[in-house]
Amino acid sequence: MQPARRRQLQRLAPSLLDWYAAHARDLPWRHTSDPYAIWISEVMLQQTQAATVIPYWKRWLAALPTVHKLARAREQTILRLWAGLGYYSRVRRLRQAARLIVQDHNGRLPSDPDTLQTLPGIGPYTAGAIASIAFEQPAPLVDGNITRVFSRLHGLTQANDQELWAMAKVFVQAAHATGRHNACGDLNQSLMEIGATVCTPRQPICALCPLRRSCVAHRTGDPTAFPAPVPRPRLRQRRVLAFLIQCRGRYLVEQRPAKSVNAGLWEFPNTEAPAHANTDEIAANLLPAPPQELTPLTTIKHTITRTRFQLEAFTGKLERTGLGPGCWLAARELARLPWTAAHRRLLACAGLAAAKRT
Ligand code: SF4
Repeated sequence: MQPARRRQLQRLAPSLLDWYAAHARDLPWRHTSDPYAIWISEVMLQQTQAATVIPYWKRWLAALPTVHKLARAREQTILRLWAGLGYYSRVRRLRQAARLIVQDHNGRLPSDPDTLQTLPGIGPYTAGAIASIAFEQPAPLVDGNITRVFSRLHGLTQANDQELWAMAKVFVQAAHATGRHNACGDLNQSLMEIGATVCTPRQPICALCPLRRSCVAHRTGDPTAFPAPVPRPRLRQRRVLAFLIQCRGRYLVEQRPAKSVNAGLWEFPNTEAPAHANTDEIAANLLPAPPQELTPLTTIKHTITRTRFQLEAFTGKLERTGLGPGCWLAARELARLPWTAAHRRLLACAGLAAAKRT
């Protein structure tokens, strides 16, 4: 990094700390110094907005308040607490990491970023967050928000990882050198906060930004040109039919197989179908017997990574339970299962449970 740029970042660090002290959002994980609670918040915040994470984080800590409790938790418990946040491999890796922390680290999260990265699911970003926020280590971190802020600050259309991490390191070391209380964690969080609330992808509010006077992108008059937009890949389209089949107050449900997407979560019987496939025939082939009174319930559109799903749901009846794969459960039991996000919406459409966790 050029010495002039380094000096500029070093000069900016104290103003970022001042800005954060005055403008940080009041989020519950900012009131704790418990490394476990901070770790859980950081993993939940990957790919999910803070407002959505708050109730999940509170529920999680009420149910599993310590690393030891997480290490001993059943898979269905952690899946149920996570249901709706997506990317379920994250929650399984959390429990694997908790078991290793109990086994190899006396139940305490390591404070050093390199040791943290030996644990499942903890990469450079999460290690930097835990080390700086919970342990006041001068550990840098870079995420999508910080990449955008740095790219705009220095007018980079295509920043490389090495450059971004070098900038993050200079910033956090400069904060550490101020000797202020919680300076490392606050500096890292100030950058994340600017990215989340001020330097947003489409409408940066430069007038409120503490980096404004030094920002190259702001001076160009078109900050959204930095970094250069990446062309989005085209989405695949898939049509899926799902069947909410009832027999004497019980519903047929299935658990997703191990190693599949959303493994271990629950769904109504469903299958992919060509555009003009006959619904009655598909239901008869999929279900233990041809259902009666097959009726359209709803159509839900949702996207998983690069695939756009059209999920068409039908209600119907069978005369006998106990046939075929899957379980027949009463409505009150359905609400206690960890569901995939799309099928939780079907539950709500059918009046069987709430759509959204609150
Ligand atoms: S001045 Fe504007 S473009 Fe530059 S970092 Fe701040 S919000 Fe982003």
